Formats: sequence, structure tokens, C-alpha cells
Amino acid sequence: MRALVFGADRVPRVQRVPEPTPGSGEVLLRVEAAGICHTDHDILHGRYPAALPRVPGHEFAGEIVELGHDVTRWRVGDRVAVDPLVACDRCPNCRRGHRNLCREIAAYGADLDGGAAEFAVVRAQNAHAVGDLPGSVAALAEPLACATLGVRRANPRPEARALVLGAGPIGLLLAVALRSHGVRDIGICDLFEERLTRARAFGVSATYPAGPDLPQQLLADHGPEAGRFDLVIDATGRPEVVQQGLALLRDAGTLLVFGVCPPGSGVTVDPHEVYARQLTILGSFSLAGTLPEAITTLRTTSLPAADLVSHTFALDEAVDAFHRIGSPDTLKIQVTP
Ligand SMILES: [Zn+2]
Ligand SMILES: [Zn+2]
Repeated sequence: MRALVFGADRVPRVQRVPEPTPGSGEVLLRVEAAGICHTDHDILHGRYPAALPRVPGHEFAGEIVELGHDVTRWRVGDRVAVDPLVACDRCPNCRRGHRNLCREIAAYGADLDGGAAEFAVVRAQNAHAVGDLPGSVAALAEPLACATLGVRRANPRPEARALVLGAGPIGLLLAVALRSHGVRDIGICDLFEERLTRARAFGVSATYPAGPDLPQQLLADHGPEAGRFDLVIDATGRPEVVQQGLALLRDAGTLLVFGVCPPGSGVTVDPHEVYARQLTILGSFSLAGTLPEAITTLRTTSLPAADLVSHTFALDEAVDAFHRIGSPDTLKIQVTP
């Protein structure tokens, strides 16, 4: 079969590799769509632990075409989205219920071959039925499941005023997760007017241009109530933006650190302010059993989730696709083998 392969020399190539066969407890998928994201960049360049060579792709969906000999929960022809995390279920973090923080964690697309290929093998228990959802929408389930975990951890009230920093695909998926959680007042902020225009068309409540004076600007333009938020979510992974997020909180507000900041970076936190204003600072890593909820959200959301896929590339063009990630004229980029 053909697959995108991250070589041991850290060069991505589309090449022929042996078609995988499903072992005990596994199924073989014919991949319909695989999203690519910044994590794939980090895997390629050694910023996210993975052994190369590797077939990347941790956001994928497809049709089951072959079952391992002992698999009874699926039938050939079932269509599924994949939870990429394989936890050990034995380590202290797994036993405490934090399987996403498993100390022995493996993930399809990082430690195990993933979905940027014609076919992929996954454990039967990592597959979740998507019914008749289009493959491109079903492949949004994984990143939406990450957003869903973040929103679940922040647990905002429906009347909360929320602001997402960053209007890329993850920022808009956070808006989908917030809306599904019942939050109606969802603002979004970005450096690029192009992305704010897309966010308005997508259906967020308000958009704000980012800049070094964002907190002061919002305060000046909207006053101390409307210029502050109950929940601020960073979807940029930039420490200076996380710092702004802290300054944008109302009393009793929550900052959700969702974007991936560089390890060892820092922000300044005034512990007196955290105490006196009763602030909450939360983290959220990957997904944790939230994929089924994400699939339900994709079925029921009033926001046009399918519009999040801005560019689709054939597998042979996967290397070009990979180089488009993060460009302001793109949202989610997918490969359709
Ligand atoms: Zn991803
Ligand atoms: Zn574990």
C-alpha cells in the first residue's frame, strides 16, 4: 500500500510499505480521511516523542475491511473514527483514571503507525462507530475530542462569557465544543483578519483582532464587564498570549491552557491575584474517553463543522499538504487516501 512515512532522516515521503494485517483484538481500516496538525510537525522534528520511521496520522476515520480472528464487536463495512491513545491500564496515572497521562502511553501516528495511509490497523476497542457521517467530518472527531476534554474540565456555565485565543482549526473546534456544552457567548481572537472573517462565517458571537495590547484594548473598547471573560482558552501555544489570557479573566474566571507552549517557557502569575480574584488555571492534555461525545457533537452541532476542513489532498500530495499546516488561509487539512 501507499503511505506517508516520516523517515528516520526526518524527511516525509509518500512510499510503498507492506499492508498491515490485523492481529488479535485488532481491525484493519481502509482510511477515508486523515487530518494532519502541528503535532505531526512536532513528531517529524523530534519535539514529540516518537520512534521513526513512522506512518503519521492520529486524526482518522475509515471503513473496517478485515477483523482480527477474535474480534466480535465489529463487522466488515462498519465505519469508525479512531481514538489514537493506547494506555497501559496498570501505571499509577491509569489506575487514578487519567489514561491520557499514562506513563507508558502509545499513540497511533506517533509510537504506532497511524492513518496517513491507504490502510491502518487499530485495536477494536479504539474504534468508535460514526454511522453515516462523511469520512472528512468523522476524522474531526479526534481533535474535537481533545477540545471536548478541555471544555469538560473547565465546565463553564451556559451563561458564561467565553473567549478563545486563536481562530485556527483548533480554536473553532473549541467553539464547537463550547456550544455543545451549552455556552452561547463565544468570542474568538486572532492576528489574521482572514481567520476572523472565517470565524464570523462559522458562527462565533464576536471576533477581536489580536495584538500586544489586547487586554487594554478590550477594556477600553468594551468596559470592565464586557471586556473580560469567565473562561479564556489559549489555542495558540504562545506564552505571551497565555499571559494576556490571565489579564482577560473576570473575577472567579478560568484560564484553560490548551495550546502547546514550548517546554520551559514561562508566564508571570501573581498568586495574590489568583487568591483574591479566585482565579482558576487549568490544563488539558490530548483526549480521555471523549471521542464518543465528540462524534455525537459532530452529529448534533448547530455550527457547520464540515466547513472546518478547508483543504483536502490526495495521499500522493501528502507532503505538500504537510507543508501547508498553520498557514492563515487554511483551517483543517486532510489527506484522503
Ligand atoms: Zn492533531
Ligand atoms: Zn498507564
